[in-house]
Amino acid sequence: MVKAEGVHKSFGAAHILKGIDLEVAPREVFCLIGPSGSGKSTFLRCINHLEKINAGRLSVDGELVGYRQKGDKLYELKDSEVALKRRDIGMVFQRFNLFPHMTALANVMEAPMQVKGVSKSVARERALKLLDRVGLADKAGNYPSQLSGGQQQRVAIARALAMEPKLMLFDEPTSALDPELVGDVLDVMRGLAEDGMTMIVVTHEMGFAREVGDALVFMDNGVVVESGHPRDVLTNPQHDRTKSFLSKVL
Ligand code: ATP
Ligand code: MG
Repeated sequence: MVKAEGVHKSFGAAHILKGIDLEVAPREVFCLIGPSGSGKSTFLRCINHLEKINAGRLSVDGELVGYRQKGDKLYELKDSEVALKRRDIGMVFQRFNLFPHMTALANVMEAPMQVKGVSKSVARERALKLLDRVGLADKAGNYPSQLSGGQQQRVAIARALAMEPKLMLFDEPTSALDPELVGDVLDVMRGLAEDGMTMIVVTHEMGFAREVGDALVFMDNGVVVESGHPRDVLTNPQHDRTKSFLSKVL
């Protein structure tokens, strides 16, 4: 579903991603861990067309990110084409960025109506189902300020799902939450995984990675240091940098 081959990304003189190689299979829960500043968010942003890579190849569902290939030639996508591609990828950030002036229901209905032209009644029906799926059927009429952080984050997940993405990216979705609210959000993500959603999850929740993850990559300083099945990497890390990182977070 996602394939990175020698992906490099710099911001000016700062070389952030230094040749990332990895592959995410369809229906896989792919966990990405690593110290602050290692480039995890930057990599997710590259997948989601929010940043352009400087070298290498990055593809989602068999299509190059940002380019169209014709024969041997690559053509850069127009902004309108990029916007179309981005629709297929859902993203949930650390900070829930719901529209504050809209109810939970309206937040979930908004993109399908505005971007996909779905009718109001259909959008409403689907949004109610999605809110039910994230355990918030009874909060449809609440505004974000009337929801806990964990509830807001679950609305954010429902909102991303409303676009029927083929890939979901999670960037530390629980790290801004009070500890007692983390479990509900992880349960929703676990449910999504069981339904077969392909997910890339940047997280410090090693329990989630171990129980739900199919693959785990440890990234440091813009490179993949170690990857494998979460149980193997977490219980038997091979590299000193992985060992040292895990000793701090486990
Ligand atoms: P964290 O765990 O703290 O979220 P991260 O692994 O997600 O860290 P990134 O946010 O990808 O790290 O940042 C990697 C490096 O890239 C950092 O040094 C950051 O300052 C730099 N960086 C990210 N975005 C930009 C930008 N738009 N312009 C310049 N530098 C940037
Ligand atoms: Mg980050």
